[in-house]
Amino acid sequence: MNNTEKYYGVEELYCWDCHKVLEVNDDGSLVDAEKLKVQKGSDGTPSIVIKCKTCYDKNNKVVIPQACEVYSRVVGYLRPVTQWNEAKQEEFKARKVFKIKNDEEHNTNNG
Ligand SMILES: [Zn+2]
Repeated sequence: MNNTEKYYGVEELYCWDCHKVLEVNDDGSLVDAEKLKVQKGSDGTPSIVIKCKTCYDKNNKVVIPQACEVYSRVVGYLRPVTQWNEAKQEEFKARKVFKIKNDEEHNTNNG
């Protein structure tokens, strides 16, 4: 690991993925962690994201969580759930999701 940047004066560093508190050596270098640079904002200002070794090995890319638009069927049309009326949104929460076995799977399972 080659950490040229130091982290003096930083009280606590967290892993981006698992939020574990990361250790910093007395000389200010990271212990078992990796730095990733991300282009942030429209001005392209880079910022630093830190991941613990375990999370970095699993995924060395930075995933920025963002809202996901969910479409579902309501009164015969596919519409984003966020645009449904309040009552229908409540009904959506009560819906059960299930998977229908296809014929191939069904046959394999029965030998
Ligand atoms: Zn982690």
